[in-house]
Amino acid sequence: MRDAACVLLSQDTNRAVVRTSWLWKQVREQRDKVPWHRLIWFSSHTPKHSIITWMALLDRLPTKSRLMRMGIIHEDICLFCEAHESREHLFFDCGFSMTIWKCVLGKCCVQRDVLHWNEEVQWTICCLKGKSLIVLILKIAWSCFIYLIWEERNARQFRSHARSVEDIVEDIRFVVSVKLQSKCIDRADPVNAHLCNTWGIL
Ligand SMILES: [Zn+2]
Repeated sequence: MRDAACVLLSQDTNRAVVRTSWLWKQVREQRDKVPWHRLIWFSSHTPKHSIITWMALLDRLPTKSRLMRMGIIHEDICLFCEAHESREHLFFDCGFSMTIWKCVLGKCCVQRDVLHWNEEVQWTICCLKGKSLIVLILKIAWSCFIYLIWEERNARQFRSHARSVEDIVEDIRFVVSVKLQSKCIDRADPVNAHLCNTWGIL
């Protein structure tokens, strides 16, 4: 048994309060919540999408620019466009990912240019609040987009397999529609009705 647990479970501890949740609170290091936690951990999230998005937000994905800084590789060419592959480039500056995210925004009737990484993160933190359908769609689509761009990058790097912008937009649409098909949605609301139609939410 770990030392921390031994101390907590000593004879002086009131056994009536010992629960897994109580133990977790005692041993974990508590820190302030990061402003983007609700973009990662929410009721309709997909764990594998959240993990990759979390790593991207922490800049811990092994992008080529990071691997080059570590001396592991000697070139950092983007597999989509041959620019330098950094996190910032890969997710919103690259023409490939920019086009996909622009399509996602368009499907939600958000008419604006795609921003750089930091600005996109700030936009999601500021704008994706509440429980409206459009917020839920964009939260699901955002982490799905990050995951699928990373997956596509890896497929091109390691399996020489490439999919199109249209394929990935359709994958995002499919994930959103599956995640929300059993949700109670007010379809009398014309905005919701339009979103359900556009995203194929039955
Ligand atoms: Zn690129």
